[in-house]
Amino acid sequence: LSKDQYNVKRGNFKALEPQHIQFFRDLLGETRILTGVNNLDKYNEDWYGFAKGESSLVVKPKTTDEVSAILSYCNKNLLAVCPQGGNTSVVASGVPVFDEVILSMELMNKIHKIDDVSGVVIFDAGCVLENLNNAVSEKGLIVPLDLGAKGNCQLGGNLSTNAGGLRLIRYGNLHGNVLGVEAVKADGEIINCLRTFKKDNTGYHLKHLFIGSEGTLGVITKIALQCPPHPKSKNIAFLGLESYDKVLKTFKKAKFDLGETLSAVEVLDRESVILTEEKLALRSPIGEYPFYLIIETSGSNEQYDSEKMDKFLEISLKENLILNGVASSEPSKIKNIWEIRERTAEALRHDGYVFCYDFSVPLQHFYTLVDLMKTHMGSKSHRVFGFGHLGDSNLHLQVSVREHTKEIQNMIEPFVFEKVREINGSISSEHGMGFLKAKYLDISNHQSATKLMRVLKNVMDPNGILNPYKVIPY
Ligand code: FAD
Repeated sequence: LSKDQYNVKRGNFKALEPQHIQFFRDLLGETRILTGVNNLDKYNEDWYGFAKGESSLVVKPKTTDEVSAILSYCNKNLLAVCPQGGNTSVVASGVPVFDEVILSMELMNKIHKIDDVSGVVIFDAGCVLENLNNAVSEKGLIVPLDLGAKGNCQLGGNLSTNAGGLRLIRYGNLHGNVLGVEAVKADGEIINCLRTFKKDNTGYHLKHLFIGSEGTLGVITKIALQCPPHPKSKNIAFLGLESYDKVLKTFKKAKFDLGETLSAVEVLDRESVILTEEKLALRSPIGEYPFYLIIETSGSNEQYDSEKMDKFLEISLKENLILNGVASSEPSKIKNIWEIRERTAEALRHDGYVFCYDFSVPLQHFYTLVDLMKTHMGSKSHRVFGFGHLGDSNLHLQVSVREHTKEIQNMIEPFVFEKVREINGSISSEHGMGFLKAKYLDISNHQSATKLMRVLKNVMDPNGILNPYKVIPY
């Protein structure tokens, strides 16, 4: 995918010269810098393999002071920087667009403190989500965030994108769960907001500037996170339904009947499941239905929680809300069911070029948008389908085509974003704007909001070195 297709021109940054590389070599040593554009595909190319930058330098700090020294030097020398976590962004947020220096956080992965009484966990921003979750679960806690990319994505990346994921319906988003952050500004100044309390009204809530700003306002180096107790029991149901109307009715019933135990509500249409069956050889445990719901509960009393789930399923069947379903509390079966949902993004990688959209939309419009795109695309697309975090009104609309062409892109964009605006939705629910969506920001945001974003960016990063071309139209 060429940047020309997005009409972006390289900013007025300096190009890397040998003396710059020598500075980083002296600071980090030979093993913590990687050079040469041909050796850096893993860092230059995004997770889907759709976007590719041309950076010829990756730097890997281990401490906050090193991050500070790197940014201070880049700022003084007008070198653009792309902070990178696990490189799982699906909007090309964590890869360079041109030749930005890649600041990889992969070596900043220490867990500093797990307090199993308060649930406060303090760690470096480069910790991989799954590793952190494993470490806190040994102390009886759980990370209040879970997503399909957990084996690769880092908490710093999660904060920077304000990642949502599968547990949001239960635990809320990161703006609520993150207690404090330490971050480094573009000029190298270290900002210490690493507080550890839920309640802290000592002036402006600066940590929120770094949550969701996709590496454009600073580099997050340390995080204090509130982790809830690990649930003692889990139940899952995988259900087949005949229509989207029944999906909504079942969701409503689940909220009322499962109450405090409800921990995830995900929806998939038939085409999404067919895709994972075709591309990853996974199998739906209940055969083919127009829609599927995954409903998970978690709590502290196995018997009580299972009875609640059983009763909900029994009544839903009796009331013809659902056509079929399987339920389980066995960890291996729970894992198998989750795989069908969590690996959808992986299946998409094998389906030509996929235009991936991530919208927040009022629930009544959730699936009409998919139908509308099916009609709009006609034979131009290969598949149009939808799945997502129904419990959070978050639709992942996917349009897959044999190959990316400018003509098809123009057919979809900005059409699809305008439709979302018409129904008062958001054009980025949880993935961020990154490079791929940045130019459409004003379709979703009021111009006054974008104006204030530019003011903030200028204050935090006057030279614009941090993750240029992302989030705000360049
Ligand atoms: P990267 O991709 O490396 O970077 C993302 C952004 O964060 C970039 O702008 C980068 O510059 C910035 N960044 C990274 N680290 C730092 C730091 N320390 N300081 C400042 N900026 C930083 N997303 C969801 O929200 N919910 C999901 O359910 C979900 N499921 C996914 C499933 C799969 C299979 C995949 C591939 C992706 C999924 N995503 C999901 C998208 C992605 O995983 C998230 O956006 C994730 O939070 C990115 O984390 P990362 O460490 O990979 O960050």
